[in-house]
Amino acid sequence: MVKTGETYINVGIATTGKPILKRTDNNTILKNQRIGLGFHWERSIESILPGEVIVTDDPVYQIINRLPLETYLQSVVGSEMNPDAPIEFLKAHAIISRSWAMGKIIGADTPKNEGKIFSPDLILNWEDTCDHHSFDVCADDHCQRYQGIQHFNPNIIEAIQSTTGLCLYSKSDQLVDARFSKCCGGKTEVFSSCWQSHEQPCLESFEDPWCDLSTLSVKNKELVLKSILKEYDLDNNGGYRWETQVSAEDIKRNLYTKFGRDIGDIVNAQIIEKGASGRATLIRLIGSKGSLDLGKELMIRRLLAPTHLYSSRISIEKDTHRPDIFKIKGSGWGHGVGLCQIGAARKAIEGYNYREILSFYYPGSEIH
Ligand SMILES: [Zn+2]
Ligand SMILES: [Zn+2]
Repeated sequence: MVKTGETYINVGIATTGKPILKRTDNNTILKNQRIGLGFHWERSIESILPGEVIVTDDPVYQIINRLPLETYLQSVVGSEMNPDAPIEFLKAHAIISRSWAMGKIIGADTPKNEGKIFSPDLILNWEDTCDHHSFDVCADDHCQRYQGIQHFNPNIIEAIQSTTGLCLYSKSDQLVDARFSKCCGGKTEVFSSCWQSHEQPCLESFEDPWCDLSTLSVKNKELVLKSILKEYDLDNNGGYRWETQVSAEDIKRNLYTKFGRDIGDIVNAQIIEKGASGRATLIRLIGSKGSLDLGKELMIRRLLAPTHLYSSRISIEKDTHRPDIFKIKGSGWGHGVGLCQIGAARKAIEGYNYREILSFYYPGSEIH
């Protein structure tokens, strides 16, 4: 249990140029919070910041907002989740977000680059939230989206307050690295398929029957999907099953622009290693000038699509009529480790409480 009166988080907030601040009786108004860093929707917004606000200019202007952890959670859960989602699902998410934030505050992260390989015939790489040095978390999507207190909503406040201080722990009392993704596709994945090569407690691979929405009525299916997704497609069931294709030319271009490698024209692409859920973790590319193995799951998703494939839980097959086209059949949306949001929202709608939801998705975990 987190000591809620004493636990504070330091949030680093980017600004567009020199911070423009207006102090009010209780809060500080920041006129130029910079959001969407590096994305096409990058812009400045006004945000209302509770707690202490410190301006730094080393090496660039930014704000450090020091505020109670529980207030921070009201903001981030409110901006990441649909406030109309089932309350037990929101409570489960509040506990996950709190566990994640506590991990950042106490610095529980393991070294990020351990095990990465960049050699002529192998790229083994992944991304993770890196450690920030002068604050605990940033305010952008890199960590969790924090835009001050305008996202407060009664359902979100109830979800945070009714779980105040609660986090997920392993049996040996270690804070659980509570990962989550949109849809596991029917089976969850282990940590080592996506990040460093060790395993983490309570992140296991098991069958998840809950994210298959095909047997639900249209009304209930919509209820589940709109809990998680801003825009959704009833036909793909939140990424449960999908199909796409990629050309040899696309793979060649992606390999060069995203990974800086040129192995000539792509002759074949084959999955050579899979994780526990069937997610591809290593793919072998045969080119006219050489071959290259590439992993882990996020890198494979980047290689095979203009931005990302939904997931790497895929099969790849050459089109029998056009050998330069690879047909991909996939399932799941995201890395599939830890909680499956579509499955968890469905469980909440079917009457399971947050404790039942979390003990299903983080086997062996305890909440206290
Ligand atoms: Zn960050
Ligand atoms: Zn699932």
